[in-house]
Amino acid sequence: MDGMTTLDGLRRNLAAVEERLAAACRRAGRRREDVTLVAVTKTVPVEAAALLPELGVFDLGENRPQELWRKAAALPSAVRWHMIGHLQRNKIERTVPLTTLIHSVDRMSLVQALEEWAAKADRTVDVLLEANVSGEGSKQGFDAEGLMRAVEELAALRQVRVCGLMTMAPLQEAEACRPVFAELRALRDRLAAELAGVHPVRELSMGMSNDFEVAVEEGATYVRLGTVVWEK
Ligand SMILES: *Cc1c(COP(=O)(O)O)cnc(C)c1O
Repeated sequence: MDGMTTLDGLRRNLAAVEERLAAACRRAGRRREDVTLVAVTKTVPVEAAALLPELGVFDLGENRPQELWRKAAALPSAVRWHMIGHLQRNKIERTVPLTTLIHSVDRMSLVQALEEWAAKADRTVDVLLEANVSGEGSKQGFDAEGLMRAVEELAALRQVRVCGLMTMAPLQEAEACRPVFAELRALRDRLAAELAGVHPVRELSMGMSNDFEVAVEEGATYVRLGTVVWEK
């Protein structure tokens, strides 16, 4: 392993990922185009990330604002950036205009800060709410009760659009994550019913390298993949 990512190596990894995604969609009776692969670039330099659009992958994810700014400045503007990590209020102004979707909105204070910024900027901001359904995975995010308590406040938003839910499953064997994914889907359905006609609560951002096929079987519309994209 020389540490360098080559176009050919990346192409091979993406082809393997694509085959696994397609197979998971077939097993679940889902259409491949209903699942978006977000290639997570947090572990690689700008030069490696820049190979993705060359291979037709335009949905890229970063978990740190500064890193997203740096890479967004260097890569083609056709890239759709997904913010998948903790976002502080003071980073909203610089980060949101660069992103297509914020997956990791984990608290109401951030929702309201985004709403304020969006009103001032006269923009719509698309977000997913990060839910902690396993109780043991990430400690961040809303639990089911917290989400249901927030329904009225969410319904009152004018500039922030709640497009769905995101979760990080606990790091364990893929099949063991299935109940977590199924629970997130059920929670999405509940929230969608509560917010029908107000927010398009459709998306499920779930599934990482070790569990994405199970996530697709359980209804993921975004999978966030780093390791399987970059492994040598
Ligand atoms: C790093 C990261 C991923 C990708 O994880 P892999 O296991 O490397 O595929 C997905 N989602 C989030 C929020 C991450 O921080």
